[in-house]
Amino acid sequence: MILPGRTIGILGGGQLGRMFAIAARRLGYRVHALDPTPDCPAGQVADVEVVAAYEDVEAACRFATEVDVVTFEFENIPAETLQAVAEIRPVHPSPEVLHICRHRLREKEFLSSNGFPVTPYRAVHSAGELSAALGEIGTPAVLKTADFGYDGKGQVRLDPQLWKGLRAMAELDTTSAAWAAMGRPVGVLEAYVPFLREFSVICARTATGHMACFPPAENEHNRHILDVSTVPGDMPPATVWRAVELAAAIADQLQVVGLLAVEMFELADGVVLVNELAPRPHNSGHYTLDACSTSQFEQQLRAVCGLPLGSVELLRPAAMANLLGDLWEDGEPNWAAALEYPEVALHLYGKHEPRPGRKMGHLTALADSAAAARERALAAREALQSDPESPSKVWF
Ligand code: AMP
Repeated sequence: MILPGRTIGILGGGQLGRMFAIAARRLGYRVHALDPTPDCPAGQVADVEVVAAYEDVEAACRFATEVDVVTFEFENIPAETLQAVAEIRPVHPSPEVLHICRHRLREKEFLSSNGFPVTPYRAVHSAGELSAALGEIGTPAVLKTADFGYDGKGQVRLDPQLWKGLRAMAELDTTSAAWAAMGRPVGVLEAYVPFLREFSVICARTATGHMACFPPAENEHNRHILDVSTVPGDMPPATVWRAVELAAAIADQLQVVGLLAVEMFELADGVVLVNELAPRPHNSGHYTLDACSTSQFEQQLRAVCGLPLGSVELLRPAAMANLLGDLWEDGEPNWAAALEYPEVALHLYGKHEPRPGRKMGHLTALADSAAAARERALAAREALQSDPESPSKVWF
């Protein structure tokens, strides 16, 4: 057991690392964060910020010797760096778990070979293989990069309805164009599933196999980026049960020590499919900071330190709305207007540059029902763009 007062190392200094560091410091731990960017979100709140490239194995090893245990918030840490660190200190979740989860093809193969339900898919390594895979899977389909993809980056939708006119006009070879647009050497072609809902479950698991799953969050995306998560979601109880059961079974099969976020689709006939895994805190679990007995970040800390897991009870219906850099388009958002809303918590990540699509912060609203919480979160976010000179509207 790694007790309060000891030092946790976190690889990756984005918002997930920041919220982890805040949770760890609240429990009396010391935190060292490693990230290539000076004054990164986690570095701002950690005890020690180490600025080094992820490829700098020597710096990572020095970092490891100064901490008691290492975890991560960024999935694309080079395998050599992670392996070198793991030889010095325990890394949780293990490099083997990360190896599977950060590569879409390995992840799909792990899931399907262990009997977990996924969308039909094929591995593709060339435009020729893509053409053959399209013949088997059919359209509409989605071509995704096997690695380095996030928030829909490196994804190409293959839908004849979209390209019909275009192909006639430009004599476009759509298969070659789609392959080129993906831009990576290995891809996964997936059948496009007409899901009813998207949701996610975050499961914590300790080294002794204790597990606890947070209530599923129903997720809405905009431009492939998570926009709003609502808890409890609108899924029927049988779907909630199935989702939690699946997330726990996957975390157990992977022998995760830490968190595993499992993104899922619910189809019209009640079938649940696993879309993606992330062995770390997840954007759709930010609601736990304000709405649950234990946050996902504290739960990650407890799991990696070998402490008992905390209660995952939802204390109040909640909705989380992401704040992207686009909100800064016309200047600084009107923070005061959003803060006038009752039961709305504002979380900002300390990022300096508000680029479009960049996650700068989030709002969580609590209310008597999930629908009311969602409405409140959206209204508070909308208020961020109101004119600071106009009279304020207080909503209850
Ligand atoms: P991903 O990067 O796999 O999480 O995909 C981003 C988003 O694209 C998902 O949250 C879905 O909204 C959508 N999407 C991804 N894969 C599929 C699929 N096979 N069928 C339908 N929608 C998908």
